[in-house]
Amino acid sequence: MSEFKALVLDQDGDGKVSASYQTLSNDQLPEGDTTVAVEYSSLNYKDGMIINGLGRLVRDYPHVPGVDFVGTVESCDTGAFEVGQKVICTGWRVGEVHWGGFATRARVQAKWLVPLPDALSAEQSMAIGTAGLTAMLALMALEEHGLTPDAEGEVLVTGAAGGVGSVAVALLSALGYRVAAGTGRESTHAYLTDLGATTIVSREELEEAARGPLGKERWSGAIDNVGGPILGNLLAALGYGASCAAVGLAASPKLDATVLPFLLRGVNLLGIDSVNAPKARRVQAWTRLAAELPMGKLDAITHVRGLSEAVDLAGQILKGQIQGRTVIDVNT
Ligand code: NDP
Repeated sequence: MSEFKALVLDQDGDGKVSASYQTLSNDQLPEGDTTVAVEYSSLNYKDGMIINGLGRLVRDYPHVPGVDFVGTVESCDTGAFEVGQKVICTGWRVGEVHWGGFATRARVQAKWLVPLPDALSAEQSMAIGTAGLTAMLALMALEEHGLTPDAEGEVLVTGAAGGVGSVAVALLSALGYRVAAGTGRESTHAYLTDLGATTIVSREELEEAARGPLGKERWSGAIDNVGGPILGNLLAALGYGASCAAVGLAASPKLDATVLPFLLRGVNLLGIDSVNAPKARRVQAWTRLAAELPMGKLDAITHVRGLSEAVDLAGQILKGQIQGRTVIDVNT
């Protein structure tokens, strides 16, 4: 097949980004040593930004978005993968600098790919997707800094009903952690409890600063998806020596904090970067996800939608209207 279907972004002279569904020919594919027949991609917050032309994440148009994908290797010049092997691609600025997975064919570097674990279906791997991989990388970082399920306080997950948050809540709970889910949407409380949250904390409560620079020691750890005042406040409420994995900036890229939690409570702020995480760490994270994430819970929060719906969904994720994980079946 010499043609493939793609969601293509273009930019007009005023910088306005528009999206259209096009049939492209293989010779339009970018450089790369490995060609993959894409089956599924997943919808992430960054896809929302890219499709809506926000954050100047894309510099060259026309562009094919989709920050992750799973599919079957059609050719691999390096010999790293066999033809027919199932592979996952996340990070490396795919869908941002390089053409991504909102297409039926992608060409990338073999070194960006990891094998699909046997225990996962292609669809499940994208239900996990970049969001789930990031949740696991965050958990691994917290555990490497001493977090264990028998810790005294709950682990706080902010932006809990979003993609990263939902997988983080399900994962932590399955591993025996007590989880407080921070959310701004009252309608998500039952959903978060079903995922395993032991407590629901409102966004307003998390936004409210403690009276002094340090609050009560409340959390044994945290995974923060939102940044801004909530991140500053939660640092001041971590227990002695506890850590927060900083994942995202859905509220703000600003960090409004004092150094006192670091100086007086020895807390750690751990940066999580799924984009450039080394391959060995990704393989380790995918292996753990395949073994430890409760797939029944994941299936229950996953919505599979067609490529033709991606633009609409990209608008919704920016408005915080998406709950759980959205998988894009690029062939429908
Ligand atoms: P989602 O949009 O699915 O979830 C974000 C959640 O944040 C929303 O569901 C909402 O949760 C909460 N939220 C949204 N706006 C606000 C606000 N103004 N104030 C407070 N909370 C808010 O995004 P993802 O889960 O895909 O990604 C979360 C963040 O992590 C994003 O910033 C994303 O860019 C980043 N990210 C970073 C990665 C990395 O490698 N570091 C990888 C993947 C994502 P609720 O409805 O529960 O309130």
